[in-house]
Amino acid sequence: MDLELTPAQRAFRAEVRAFIAERLPQEIRERLRAGHPPRKQDTVQWQRILNERGWAAPHWPRRYGGAELGQMERLILLDELYRAPAPLPQVFNLTMLGPVLMKFGTPQQCDHFLPRLANLDLWFCQGFSEPGSGSDLASLRTAARREGDEYVVNGQKIWTTTAHVADWVFALVRTDTGARKQEGISFLLIDLRTPGITIRPITSIDGEHHLNEVFFDEVRVPVANLVGEENRGWDCAKFLLANERTGIANVGLCRERLDHAREVAARTRQGDARLLDDARLRSEMAQLDAEIRALELTNWRFLLTPSAQQALPAFASVLKLKGVELQQEINALLARIAGPAGLERRGADDTVHGPLTPRYFYSRAASIYGGTSEVQKDILAKAIVG
Ligand SMILES: Cc1cc2nc3c(=O)[nH]c(=O)nc-3n(C[C@H](O)[C@H](O)[C@H](O)COP(=O)(O)OP(=O)(O)OC[C@H]3O[C@@H](n4cnc5c(N)ncnc54)[C@H](O)[C@@H]3O)c2cc1C
Repeated sequence: MDLELTPAQRAFRAEVRAFIAERLPQEIRERLRAGHPPRKQDTVQWQRILNERGWAAPHWPRRYGGAELGQMERLILLDELYRAPAPLPQVFNLTMLGPVLMKFGTPQQCDHFLPRLANLDLWFCQGFSEPGSGSDLASLRTAARREGDEYVVNGQKIWTTTAHVADWVFALVRTDTGARKQEGISFLLIDLRTPGITIRPITSIDGEHHLNEVFFDEVRVPVANLVGEENRGWDCAKFLLANERTGIANVGLCRERLDHAREVAARTRQGDARLLDDARLRSEMAQLDAEIRALELTNWRFLLTPSAQQALPAFASVLKLKGVELQQEINALLARIAGPAGLERRGADDTVHGPLTPRYFYSRAASIYGGTSEVQKDILAKAIVG
């Protein structure tokens, strides 16, 4: 198989790069380059610029604001956003909920929500995990009972990323407590301003507030906000989780962080020499570079061979597992290069090398969210051993 980009794909890459160079606000680029996560206003501002071009939801049909791009073009776009670096289109809206609505939603739900998701007029978060229900998601207990044309929701979600800045949550709730655990679940869209919802912050090891607990106490949700059939929400959840595969390896992110490591090493002195001239460090960086390229080729092979996606769902687990390992290694390398200076405070939230240490700590979570590394290894073992 030819694993080179076609001339048209190379031209597309150049077009995306030129667009980003021209339209990405400098202030946002600099914040991200220093290692800060994008703020909500950065993501909204940039996603609206991308949306003018159909590139916020590049894989969606044009009638909902997409550009109907293929998987490779979508990956190229994603890599270029990481490379810039620019905020990525909001993942809960675009990679998760949008495709679920297109497959399971009513025409009214699609017409109402999809354009708003693409333009970030509404910010959704994902309410799946609960205390005690993470890897074993189908054991979830947040319940919804039907009363007329409303559901009444009671229970708790946890680790809900960005719930504190979100407008809505898409949530899995139990609508039949008697059925087999996968069969009694429904997929609901819930407006976070509804009375009875309490959002409590969880501060993560990087000292930041990304995560939340969300409590539901007699929360009334119109039945019109059910996606798909009642008690068939597990179909939506499986489809949503399988849909995260493009870009799951985060090759662009690994490249951007390794480039940043080179920059930090170039300005860090070791005696009279630059740290970047240290032979052992250079060899370590070359090794990481080669592994990133190997991961990129594996990702392309996966996307360019539809039969591989059908025949071997475990391929996606390889991409997630290896991508996360590389991300974590590169963040650890950055922390080592910075040394004690990586801990030294310069301002309220910055060290002399930017937020390297918080970023290192937060990268540890990548082997938990989106399916833990142990669970990916289980999937691989089953695919290999049967
Ligand atoms: C930073 C971050 C952001 C998140 N954001 C969201 C979000 O926005 N929305 C949301 O719904 N959830 C979110 N999550 C939750 C995430 O999906 C869960 O943490 C994850 O699914 C693991 O579930 P758990 O925490 O309950 O751990 P558990 O499932 O209890 O796992 C505990 C340990 O046991 C291991 N383990 C579990 N089952 C198996 C098995 N079958 N074989 C081998 N080992 C196993 C796990 O690998 C892990 O090491 C987020 C988590 C993090 C850390």
